[in-house]
Amino acid sequence: MKCEKCTDQISSEDAYEHGGKTLCEDCYMDAVATPKTCDPWAVYSAKKTMSQDLTLTPKQQRLFDLIKTNGPLTLEQICAQLDITEEEFRTNFATLRHMELARGCKLEGQVCYTLFDDQSS
Ligand SMILES: [Zn+2]
Repeated sequence: MKCEKCTDQISSEDAYEHGGKTLCEDCYMDAVATPKTCDPWAVYSAKKTMSQDLTLTPKQQRLFDLIKTNGPLTLEQICAQLDITEEEFRTNFATLRHMELARGCKLEGQVCYTLFDDQSS
């Protein structure tokens, strides 16, 4: 017989019943040990829905666009180019960071800010 989840061949003494399905020991353990709330897919789609619902303020959008075109940039560069204070930057950057759009990084010992999925730094 086969595990209905991973389709591994299993003998009937290694088969487990879970939710009306025949599972191998590994899949059974996964199924019983993972609470519904920890389902990675559920978390992923919740996150996705959340970031789609959130819209950036004009300031956050400008900050994001600047990092996107010119990043990684230092705090001084960002504040100078957007003409904002350090505090304004921190408040707006915190939102971008929270939405996983941007992040901090270290470049030659300096703290810089770049896109969340920037692979180069
Ligand atoms: Zn299995």
